[in-house]
This record gives sequence, C-alpha cells and structure tokens, in this order.
Amino acid sequence: MSIYEENLERAKDYLARFKTEVTGHYINGAMTKSSSNASFDNLTPVDNTSLGKVVEGTVEDVDQACAAAENAFADWRTMPGKERKKLLNHFADKIVERADEIALVESMDCGQPLRFMKAAAVRGADNFRFFADKAPEARNGQSLHQDEHTNFTVRNPIGPVGVITPWNTPFMLATWKIAPALAAGCTVVHKPAEFSPLTAMLLAEISQEAGIPAGVWNTVNGFGEVVGKRITEHPAIKAVAFVGETVTGSHIMQQGAPTLKRVHFELGGKNPVMVFDDADFERALDAVVFMIYSLNGQRCTSSSRLLIQKNIQGPFLEALQARVKNLRVGHPLDPETEVGPLIHRSHFEKVLSFMSAAKNEGASIAAGGVARDDLGAGNYVAPTLFTGANNQMKIAREEIFGPVLTAISFETEEEAIRIANDTPYGLSGYIWTNDSGRALRMADRLDAGMVWVNSENNRNLPSPFGGVKSSGIGRDGGDYSFEFYMETKNICIAHGTHKVPVLGR
Ligand code: NAD
Repeated sequence: MSIYEENLERAKDYLARFKTEVTGHYINGAMTKSSSNASFDNLTPVDNTSLGKVVEGTVEDVDQACAAAENAFADWRTMPGKERKKLLNHFADKIVERADEIALVESMDCGQPLRFMKAAAVRGADNFRFFADKAPEARNGQSLHQDEHTNFTVRNPIGPVGVITPWNTPFMLATWKIAPALAAGCTVVHKPAEFSPLTAMLLAEISQEAGIPAGVWNTVNGFGEVVGKRITEHPAIKAVAFVGETVTGSHIMQQGAPTLKRVHFELGGKNPVMVFDDADFERALDAVVFMIYSLNGQRCTSSSRLLIQKNIQGPFLEALQARVKNLRVGHPLDPETEVGPLIHRSHFEKVLSFMSAAKNEGASIAAGGVARDDLGAGNYVAPTLFTGANNQMKIAREEIFGPVLTAISFETEEEAIRIANDTPYGLSGYIWTNDSGRALRMADRLDAGMVWVNSENNRNLPSPFGGVKSSGIGRDGGDYSFEFYMETKNICIAHGTHKVPVLGR
C-alpha cells in the first residue's frame, strides 16, 4: 500500500464517526445537539460529497453556551495561573497524541494538503504551550511612581469571550485565538466556520479529555448569520476575536455596538511582495511561489501581488511561470500534492471568475487560468499566474484567496511603494533586496501590520500579528493577546504625605 493509500484508509477510519452521527455542539462540558432538528451537509472539497451532517445552531443554543461560559468564569479566572499553565500544557500534549487524526480530518474537511496540515496540528500544540507558559504572569502590570503616590497596574481577564474563525486553516486559527483567552483566565464560546467544522469538535473533545472545567470551553456549530451573530450580540460576551472577511468584520462591529463589544479583527489582505533587481534571485523565487501557492492560496498573509522590478522581469517571470506550471495539484492526502482543492464550490466559482476578469481587463494568463476538472468532482483550480497587469485591475485590487498571483512591474522605489500601498488592505508585505538601506526605507513606508525582508511569512509567537486599514484591528501574539483578553486596572496608593483638598470644613 502506498503512503497515499494508507492516508486515505486512516482518514476514512477517523471520519466514520462524523458520518454515523450528526455533529452537534459542545456546551457546558457535554456534547449536545441543537434545540432545533435542522442540520446541513458538510461537504469535502475533495469531491463535494458529504462527510456527514452538522447541526444548525440556534439563538437558544448560543444563549446556553454563553450562560455556561458566564457561570464558569468565576472559578476559571481565580484558578492560579500555574494551574492553568499545567492544564493547558496537558491540553497541548493531547493535541500531539491526536496530531495524525487532526491533520487527516482537517485535510479532508478543508482541502489543504496534508504536508501543511501536519505542521498546522503541531503548531496548534505550540500555540497552547506558548500561552500556557505565560499564564502565571498574565496578571502582571507596571509600577508607576509619583512623588507622593505609587501606582501599579494589574490585569484581569475581561470575561467570557467569543471566538469566530474561518475555514482556511481552521484548527491552527482556533488554537491561536483560544489558547491566549484561556491562559488569560477568560472562558470561551467558539464558533467554527460552517464549511470546515470538524477539527473544532476534536478540539472540544480534547478540552474535555484534558480536564478543562465544564463551561470554560464551548463550541457552537451553525451559520454565521445566526450563531456568529448571536455570539456578537450576547450581553455576557465581553469581547469578540474574529478572523474572516473584511465585510463580516464590519457586520460584527455593528452587531456588537449595542453591548459595546471589544473587538479584535484579523481580516482580508492583498499583500505585495516587491522583488528588486539586487535580490537573491533563487531565494526570492522560492518565497514568491511559496507565499501564494502554499495552503491553496487560501492564506490571509499570502503575497498575491508580485511587484517585480522591470529590468529583471523577463527572467524572473519566465522562471516563475515554469515553477507555477510544475506545481503538483491533487488530492490533499497524496504526500506529493502541493496544491489541493478549494474549500467550497461557491469559492471555486468565485476564484474562477477572476480568470475571465483578467482576460477582459487585458492581463495575460501566463499559467493556469482554468479549473482542473480532470482531477474529478473536487474544487481543483490550476495554479494561475497573471502577467502584464496593472494595479487598477480587479485582479490586483480584490482578495482572490486562491492559488492566483498577479504580477505588476515597477521601475523605481517610489513607484513600488506607491503601487504597494494603493490598496484598501494592509496586512503584510514582503521586500526582497540586498540593499539594507532600501529594505529599511521600504519597510518604513509600507502600509502593513507586518513586513518581512528577504523572507517568507516566518511566525514568531511573541511578535505582534495583525493588519492595518481594511485588514484588521488589533494585534495578537505574546503579550499583545493578553492586552486584548484582559482589562488593565490602575491602583493608586498615597504615601500619606500629600495635601488632600478640603471642602466644607
Ligand atoms: P467569513 O467572514 O465569511 O467567515 C468567518 C466566520 O465568520 C465564519 O465562522 C462565519 O460563519 C462567521 N460569520 C459570518 N457572518 C457572520 C456574522 N454576521 N456575525 C458573526 N459571524 C459571522 O470568512 P471566511 O470566508 O470563512 O474566511 C476567509 C477570509 O478570512 C478571507 O478574507 C481571509 O483573508 C480572512 N482571514 C484573515 C486572517 C488574518 O489573520 N488577517 C487569517 C485567516 C483568514
């Protein structure tokens, strides 16, 4: 049996339970069904057949989860940090024990190649370990001296929080949001994306096995417009951490306004990678290919606009075209696969609509541009490279969120920065040059929350992650996550020497 066949067999075993039983919620420490009988089919991108039914959560279900999170908060917030550290590290161990299952289920549920999902499962455990170790110090603040008073600050967990996640890397993103919330002492109501709900249920199960107390972690399945909306409106929920589309972020802000929700948004992007003529050609080429075609291009930090200096555009685009044509598209469980099927038929159609937009706008399709129907009934799209584009074209302005790269040429630094910043988004940017002065000038002027110089997206957990403009509000990573999930309180103590103002004596 080949490794691919073995993967298929193991995935079939892991997925069997989702076929036989409707996937429900995890509320107050118990796997539950919905208050309604409604459910929907969860389709695999591999061939659009159903992996099983998932309950359509209701407002009542969310209310139950929020009540559970509210009740559990008092004990969870007062649990000593070092105990939370132990529990969350134990949780990470459990993720590692089930990493094979998580990666295989995730690949089948969201279409991401197994080679990346294996790493994502391990990264999920790392997220827990990183924040677990920080739990004992989460409450620490500052000491601020005045002549006759001493101020010090402490941090307290904000309360029950909502975590709403998308479908592109569902497991990793859920852990990235939930781990710091729990380490800070918050309780959580999580709503996974309806297109890829399965690993969220594995996480809920692991939280039960790891001994996270009932009500501390709740997962409610269903649609954004009902379940997600209610979480953002519920008065018990004090903050909402959201990862998804910019327009959804805007809805959430409106929905959360009456209850003054604190929000943290990680939204869309149209990130530039600038390659200058003095860059290391091969390393830049590797990174350009990796940062748009890995994870099926369904990656918020993907560099979807290549800005290439005119005097090297010929050889660079020629080499790039060859690499794109050579990418191995296929079943996500095939170890050879580099690009898998897109999440859903509707997204597949949206991505394909950019092929005709490119032609209509006068760009050239140097590679791809078509569906890969030869691979069966899945949502396979040939990795695509548009050349001869300009920044006003739809293919340069809108987030495509697929394996599609738009190449635009520039001549000067000034032109490069103007094109790079001419977008409503501002998540990440990548600069390839061997001139350190130029790298610093460009990095300083780029409108982005994160800039990488001579590197692909390389994640450092303590570093701030987030975007500017329409790409988001707030940062997470390291202490930034605690700033979001906690309230800072200032305590001011007089030294007993200052003059207290006197009235009415
Ligand atoms: P989406 O906005 O459609 O959905 C995200 C989540 O929000 C889902 O769980 C959905 O059910 C829920 N939702 C939908 N409507 C809602 C509402 N009115 N109230 C509350 N919740 C609601 O996003 P998607 O299509 O699942 O994900 C793709 C998007 O995510 C892309 O734009 C991508 O750039 C973005 N993303 C950003 C980052 C980042 O870090 N900036 C990371 C990953 C993905």
